[in-house]
Amino acid sequence: MRKKRVTFQEYSGTPVRKKRQLSPGLLLAVLFAVLLIASWYVFPYLTVDDDPVFPEDVSNEISDHIKLTSISIPVPTFTPVPQATEQPFDFSLLVNESHPLPADYDVSGFVLLNAMETDLFTVKEPDTYADSRAVDALTEMLTAALADGISPWQISEAYRSVEAQQKIWDEKYEKYRTVNGLSEEKAIQAVKRRVAFPGCSEHHTGLAFDLTVPGKSFAGTPQAEWLNEHCYEYGFIIRYQAEKEALTGITAEPWHVRYVGKEAAAVMVRENLCLEEYTRKYR
Ligand SMILES: [Zn+2]
Repeated sequence: MRKKRVTFQEYSGTPVRKKRQLSPGLLLAVLFAVLLIASWYVFPYLTVDDDPVFPEDVSNEISDHIKLTSISIPVPTFTPVPQATEQPFDFSLLVNESHPLPADYDVSGFVLLNAMETDLFTVKEPDTYADSRAVDALTEMLTAALADGISPWQISEAYRSVEAQQKIWDEKYEKYRTVNGLSEEKAIQAVKRRVAFPGCSEHHTGLAFDLTVPGKSFAGTPQAEWLNEHCYEYGFIIRYQAEKEALTGITAEPWHVRYVGKEAAAVMVRENLCLEEYTRKYR
């Protein structure tokens, strides 16, 4: 039999403190009290949908919470906005003898017109490109023309590179010098009135089209008449008009349309402004 061990307290006569034990009943009572107090605070949040006053307060709290937590969330760089305002340039960009095409002009969004399968128009030259947004507007316009019984249409010219413009300029100058026998100075003056200087042609923008009728002179055709009357409704202008020659420096070209966007085209028609006047007044 093992001998009971004498503790120091017993030995020294110090009274032994009996370890106090919690009864299961008391434990349950404490637990119940804790749950009761906790539910007092949690309850309003749980019943928020049933309370006609609460949702507003809570929504404020939620939005504050979102504001606070969103600080740590990276701000998205992409914001969905209409395509036109995404572009750094304006469709009413002025390109003429005193306003050459900007050196960094973006031609990456250009489409090959020859590759389009459409009954709306034919394309005269191979490898004819244009700005896709202007092509969309052109398609919309010629669809409306066809609905009015006005066809056929041919695209004689759209985007033209600066190199191609140089070639046209040189050929025209050569013709005036040799065939027409003009002096150097007079030949230059004559070419300037009909052909834009390389780098200064609207065709460099991809927003201009020469619309023609195969085998016919365009002026006076139903197509020319319809175009003159309706093109602005689709964002185009007849860029070179006889009455504005002093301002544009180019003789009348009823076949040359330029896409400027519906808003700008409407203003130009309403106020009878050519692009030079429009940009001076509004840009
Ligand atoms: Zn043209």
